[in-house]
Amino acid sequence: MKKRILAGMRAVARPHLGNYLGAGKGMVQLQERAEYETFYMVADLHTLTTPYDKDYLAGLTKDVVMDYLAMGLDPEKSVLFVQSHVPQHTELAYLLSTVTTVAKMSHLPTYKEKIKEYPQHSTMALLNYPVLMAADILIYKAEKVPVGVDQEPHLEIAREIARRMNADYGTDFPEPKMFGTKGAYVPSLLGEGKMSKSVGGSYIALTDDLQMISAKLAKAPTDAGGPGEVPITGPVANLFKFLELFLPNRLEYYGEAYRQGKLRYAELKEELARAIYGEIRPIQERREQFKSKSEMVDEIIHEGARKAKEAAGKTLQEVKEKMGLLV
Ligand code: AMP
Repeated sequence: MKKRILAGMRAVARPHLGNYLGAGKGMVQLQERAEYETFYMVADLHTLTTPYDKDYLAGLTKDVVMDYLAMGLDPEKSVLFVQSHVPQHTELAYLLSTVTTVAKMSHLPTYKEKIKEYPQHSTMALLNYPVLMAADILIYKAEKVPVGVDQEPHLEIAREIARRMNADYGTDFPEPKMFGTKGAYVPSLLGEGKMSKSVGGSYIALTDDLQMISAKLAKAPTDAGGPGEVPITGPVANLFKFLELFLPNRLEYYGEAYRQGKLRYAELKEELARAIYGEIRPIQERREQFKSKSEMVDEIIHEGARKAKEAAGKTLQEVKEKMGLLV
């Protein structure tokens, strides 16, 4: 039997460069390998855990599916679906919540960060986010999960839940591991933290043109440009991280310029903007083609739900039996 892969992105906004490098690229790579069966969802239910606009959610969900197709995900090779279309995820999440303590969930740093960001929204759904994510993964018995490093604490919860379920009920869940790419952590343009959809100015959208990318990079904080060793943290380190990701053969040149105190950030940023645009332009071109293919996309989503439900239904049935429910 082929090994399974599960990944997803929320529908809080159109995917940005960090989503593409941290998750999207790995999703495409794994889809191309014959030993894997790949399940990729738009995590619309996870989107509900923070404030969102109900008038845009459905449209955004479909947009993200089209962005997946533009990134290179292929419905002939991957099951592309919407999380809420496969109710088995939430049903399994309930069953998994019976082996998960409230204390464990409420002490997670990711939960604490979110309630700091949205103090009015410390909901049960937010607390339960890692359990639903565990269900998303375990329902396909997925072994690898292409995600950014920010998701590692949630993957650890999924592994703990898998171990608990296997020990208590004799299920055979594999312990899912992160499939990291070299862009597993894409820093913010603002010099601090990660590139994030919820922080304006921190990200480059996959829809940005060259001018927009140049303008955003122009605002990224810098320093005097040396002389001395290239910093290993902070805004300049972040710019060097972008060089590493997009212009690895220019690292030496700019590193030397910094050491000698001759680095010209305008030159670095312009070269970087062109390299980033070069990487995302093919995605934009493919994305254009799907605009007029709304019905085809609906069909892909419909078919994806059918296939995902079939796989998810089998696991759910097995788990219910093992947990002693009358089936
Ligand atoms: P989200 O939009 O939060 O659902 O994230 C979708 C995927 O993108 C997840 O696998 C995240 O780990 C990944 N991701 C989000 N931001 C970044 C970033 N700055 N660097 C790398 N990966 C990221």
